[in-house]
Amino acid sequence: MYCPFCGAEDTKVIDSRLVTEGNQIRRRRECFDCKERFTTYENAALVLPRIIKRDGSRETFDETKLVSGLQKSLEKRPVSIEQLEQMLDRVRRALRATGEREISSLMLGEIVMKELKTLDHVAYVRFASVYRSFQDINAFRAEIETLVTE
Ligand SMILES: [Zn+2]
Repeated sequence: MYCPFCGAEDTKVIDSRLVTEGNQIRRRRECFDCKERFTTYENAALVLPRIIKRDGSRETFDETKLVSGLQKSLEKRPVSIEQLEQMLDRVRRALRATGEREISSLMLGEIVMKELKTLDHVAYVRFASVYRSFQDINAFRAEIETLVTE
């Protein structure tokens, strides 16, 4: 983010907050060089944290990939598109709420599974079984049992 006063490349964020119901992020920045302060508005969808994959490589959060995984899990389940959209909205909020520039794919998975669990238990187990690729049937059974006892 370039400083509008002197054109310096390095500016630091001194305050971030969500505005207009979470669609934008208002940031106060300060220039390292001239110390001027200014405000930017960024599309919140563009400032989601990047995802650190298991092999250590980074990628931008790919919502289409997540949606296709979720739709597979939700096949023939009584969950509407609207409910799925609301869930995705909560996932995006949770991602932004971490305040991190990068989060692990593991953490993303936990956030998604937490939301999916409240939405539909069957879809949750389907998603979790793919995502966690359960090492053995006992781990899978243990997961199911936590659902049954709730
Ligand atoms: Zn400056």
